Amino acid sequence: MKISLVIPVYNEQEILAEVLEKYKADLRHICKETESSYEIIAVNDGCTDESLDILRKEGKLNRSLRIINLDTRYGKESAVTAGMEAASGDVIILADVDLLNPVGVFERVMVEYFEGSNIVYAYREGIGFENTKRKVSDGIVRIATRFFGVEGKYTGKANVMLYSRAAADVLVSLPNKNKFLRTMDNWVGFEIKKISYATSYTRTEIREKVRDAKKLDREQGHAKCPRSKAREHTPSKIYSICALTLGLLLVAGYIALSQFVSVPWMWILVIFIAFAVLLFASFLFYARSVMIKRIGTVHTDEETLYIIESVIN
Ligand code: UDP
Ligand code: MG
Repeated sequence: MKISLVIPVYNEQEILAEVLEKYKADLRHICKETESSYEIIAVNDGCTDESLDILRKEGKLNRSLRIINLDTRYGKESAVTAGMEAASGDVIILADVDLLNPVGVFERVMVEYFEGSNIVYAYREGIGFENTKRKVSDGIVRIATRFFGVEGKYTGKANVMLYSRAAADVLVSLPNKNKFLRTMDNWVGFEIKKISYATSYTRTEIREKVRDAKKLDREQGHAKCPRSKAREHTPSKIYSICALTLGLLLVAGYIALSQFVSVPWMWILVIFIAFAVLLFASFLFYARSVMIKRIGTVHTDEETLYIIESVIN
């Protein structure tokens, strides 16, 4: 049996090498136990930092690593689709380049596969408010997918996913160019098995790791990373925006009520409607940006989903 691990990569220089080591350790262990083989398909989604060099170096040492270079950045879902289409395994595992994933998580999803599941979603147990935060942002993305014409129903963010060959074949052969796996999984007719797993690092540890890696980078004079991983792993902006919105609402409500007697009804109504429209519009705008971050840009069916520039290994 062969396992394909697909990882989308966009500017991950600080953590890529360490994450690859962890993922390989997990895969090697599974392969030894089950007499299987593995391939890692790293999809370079137009990285502008040192990620590709790190992948190349690793590819020279490890023939099981296949690098698919997209010609520019297409977004996570497109990168994942490119990886899935290239995967030759009997089972396909999708995972982010994410230090919070512990060694052993792939083994967990494989257990479910051996027990007969065709699609497995594995959720990392949240630290603190993380589970609530995930639910809120899943909700926002779900609303955005409704408004911005994404096909299918968004099934939420899972940290690691597994597809049997049968499930992957159906997904890959769907005629839709917009392959948002997160919204199409529930079209293919297989039950989605959901499990959860614990992380091996705390957020503080992760932040420290990223900081150290950046310091090392600066000392070695590497290119500056245009996207800060540290910022990405800190709590999202959603909550500050919600708090701000609530604050604004309270202020508006107070002003409206205190003026109630002196200002004519119509004015209050007009101000409220304008405010509500503005609020709704900014929410949609924000929801769209969260959605794009989560699933990539929305393609129309005439657009090319991705162009492969080169394949290494
Ligand atoms: N990623 C990608 N293209 C992008 C953005 C992200 O391939 O345009 C990859 C990224 O390298 C990582 C995964 O998708 O492996 C998830 O990205 P990120 O951690 O930024 O997203 P989040 O965990 O916040 O959903
Ligand atoms: Mg992440």
